[in-house]
Amino acid sequence: MEFKDYKDVYIFIEQRDGVLADISLELLGKGREIADKTHSKLIAFLLGSKIKGLTNVLVAGGADEVLFVDDACLEHYITEQYVQAAYHIISSKKPNIILIGATSIGRDLAPRLAARLHTGLTADCTKLEVEEDGSLFSTRPAFGGNLMATIISPDNRPQMSTVRPGVFKKLEQDSKRQGKIEEVKVQFDRNKFKVELVEVKKAEVSKKKIEDAKILVSGGRGVGKDNFPTLSVLAETIGPNTTVSGSRAVVDAKIIDQSRQVGQTGKTVHPDVYFALGISGAIQHVAGMEESEFIIAINKDKFAPIFSVADLGIVGDVNKIVPLLIDAIKDAKAKK
Ligand SMILES: Cc1cc2nc3c(=O)[nH]c(=O)nc-3n(C[C@H](O)[C@H](O)[C@H](O)COP(=O)(O)OP(=O)(O)OC[C@H]3O[C@@H](n4cnc5c(N)ncnc54)[C@H](O)[C@@H]3O)c2cc1C
Repeated sequence: MEFKDYKDVYIFIEQRDGVLADISLELLGKGREIADKTHSKLIAFLLGSKIKGLTNVLVAGGADEVLFVDDACLEHYITEQYVQAAYHIISSKKPNIILIGATSIGRDLAPRLAARLHTGLTADCTKLEVEEDGSLFSTRPAFGGNLMATIISPDNRPQMSTVRPGVFKKLEQDSKRQGKIEEVKVQFDRNKFKVELVEVKKAEVSKKKIEDAKILVSGGRGVGKDNFPTLSVLAETIGPNTTVSGSRAVVDAKIIDQSRQVGQTGKTVHPDVYFALGISGAIQHVAGMEESEFIIAINKDKFAPIFSVADLGIVGDVNKIVPLLIDAIKDAKAKK
């Protein structure tokens, strides 16, 4: 395979109902860095229906070029339609690198696309590095999170990776950035559309997303089911940008919803402050929260691994300390 024919960094831009997924802007941020280092262009490809209005945001978010396919059959994500449109772009443009969010859509689209392109795919990456010659080093947790594997694609192009949401940072939107915007027309093979979307039912998402919170009050098995509501009181007492999350142990115990799980099989978060309350600090949990700005851990076991990543550690019974903390915050606010 002639690698020299393959160039530039392509980001699949995910949108739902015309709203861009955060991961796409995060990937543009990382993609910008990779494109600059490899002296190549950063190209966003966007699929959907009536989505042209989103293209300026992508240029302001770091893209040099935006390719978009606007077709009614792309209004909602359906595998075959999206794979056909993405394949049309990729097979004609020959990117060196393609990055896709490891969301439910990305995890469905990427392997189909990789198979059609006869190339490899590193799924669920948490780190990406690139050499000046354009070789991509994609790192992801392996063997249950006990080691990090760095994967290369020496024999095939494009190099494809899906990346976990929340790992990379978006760039500041810069409306002065200039970029080329191009509509791509795709001749769909509609005979291959075997799935018909009959109805879309949206799950109610009432609470704030944990990825967006500035402060996370995260509870583990040590808090116990009966005491867990106290964590919501702590979060409310701290303020509006605060929400409750937890370890997988409390998700498995059905104390909180899976959407609030932090860690390797949950969300990657980097809030300003992360409270790890009654959480042991298993490697799979730490993988999702170690980039937090300031970590406060409360655990009754002074040897708990969470203390090795904490900026402030308190050894003691979390269920005695949290009510004291709530009172102290209320007092401090009352004195203001
Ligand atoms: C493939 C794989 C993926 C995984 N993905 C994730 C993931 O995404 N996220 C995740 O969290 N886990 C994940 N896990 C599970 C992980 O290995 C741990 O089992 C889990 O994180 C433990 O949760 P915990 O810390 O709440 O519970 P435990 O490990 O049971 O820890 C409870 C802690 O609470 C402390 N404690 C108990 N009582 C009190 C008290 N009264 N006051 C203060 N401290 C107290 C204890 O000392 C202990 O340290 C994964 C595991 C595997 C194999």
